[in-house]
Amino acid sequence: MQHFAEEFRQSPKLAEVRYDVRGPIAQEAARLERAGHYITRLNIGNPAPFGFEAPEAVLRHMIAELPTAQGYSDSQGIYSARLAVAHYYQARGLAATPEDVWLGNGVSELISMVLTALIAPGDEILIPAPDYPLWTGATKLAGGTPVHYVCDEDNHWWPDPEEIESKVTDRTKALVLINPNNPTGAVYPREIIEAMADICRRHNLMLLADEIYENIVFDGAQMVNAAAVADDVLTVTFSGLSKTWRVAGFRSGWIYVSGPRHRAKNYLEGLNLLMNMRMCANVPAQHAIQAALGGFQSIEELILPGGRLYEQSQTAHRLLAGIEGVTVEKAAGALYLFPRLDPELYPIEDDEAFVIELLRQKKILLSHGRAFNWEDTQHLRVVTLPSVEDLETAIGHIGDFLADYRST
Ligand code: PLP
Repeated sequence: MQHFAEEFRQSPKLAEVRYDVRGPIAQEAARLERAGHYITRLNIGNPAPFGFEAPEAVLRHMIAELPTAQGYSDSQGIYSARLAVAHYYQARGLAATPEDVWLGNGVSELISMVLTALIAPGDEILIPAPDYPLWTGATKLAGGTPVHYVCDEDNHWWPDPEEIESKVTDRTKALVLINPNNPTGAVYPREIIEAMADICRRHNLMLLADEIYENIVFDGAQMVNAAAVADDVLTVTFSGLSKTWRVAGFRSGWIYVSGPRHRAKNYLEGLNLLMNMRMCANVPAQHAIQAALGGFQSIEELILPGGRLYEQSQTAHRLLAGIEGVTVEKAAGALYLFPRLDPELYPIEDDEAFVIELLRQKKILLSHGRAFNWEDTQHLRVVTLPSVEDLETAIGHIGDFLADYRST
């Protein structure tokens, strides 16, 4: 009798999980590269390939510590790095101690662990739309239901606290805040952060503050740490070395837990269990934290007028806004713009197919708005990491592509 072996199938847990920024578009870009084309990658916030290097002291310290970094560390993270993170928040007026800090393999790993430790099947997590899509994907993977609150494009992409509160139910467990925001570039004013903290206070929600871009703000925008306005709300602040210190490949991040810890004893036991199960974060990359946070904070040179990040963001904004039918909010922070294409001029049915067509024709890789759980198909995310010259060329090509699209 002939025996047909059954196919190996993925878990049904993955049925609803998406991470499109590294999906079919990225595969098509890789295929074109293998075929010999040069692709301008405006799709991922990865500073190093664009010539942004880590402060030298960070590299030197990590190299010097390599011999001592051969073994596993404590699951929570090495003490010197946790102390450095605690000092970093103390300098912002927060009462952080090394016991309040956990280290992870990038913020990504910590997002997954913090949600997995929290969510019971069917629990709801309030997440912005558009979002950094790991928040939605990790919530679903943990058995939860993402409930999106909509950030307002006509009001600097800020969220509306009233709308957020209208979406709270008795299943809501936490409120996610991404500030400065990926993908919109928004930096939220203090009143909005206070209002979000207040919603958490009144409905007993955990506040999950993804602040990985906190040092990348432009034109005097004021970055307010959520933990600073919510000392009576259980707040988990996420940050790390990937963006400000330009070492995304090291996979080094942290969480700082603040607020009424005594009400989170059981939760933190669960979180510690997950931390223990993965042994520890990459130890050489933990050593980089102390040098990064204790050393010369060289990001200033990049974000002030004349600095690369500032000038690139301004140039990309000006050039995109100059294309007929494109509207785009200036970025107050982070590394992205989220332009909208007028549906009258550019009716887009499938924004992923649109981005793939742009890639094939112009060899420019963008991400489509729906990859960020945005509701319509008229938005694109543009990474502003390439040099001004490369942005000029790339956005010129995007303009040509759109002109052709209009006329067909
Ligand atoms: N949070 C946001 C808002 C991000 O944009 C990113 C990366 O782009 C991450 C978290 C993940 O960062 P990490 O490299 O620390 O995993």
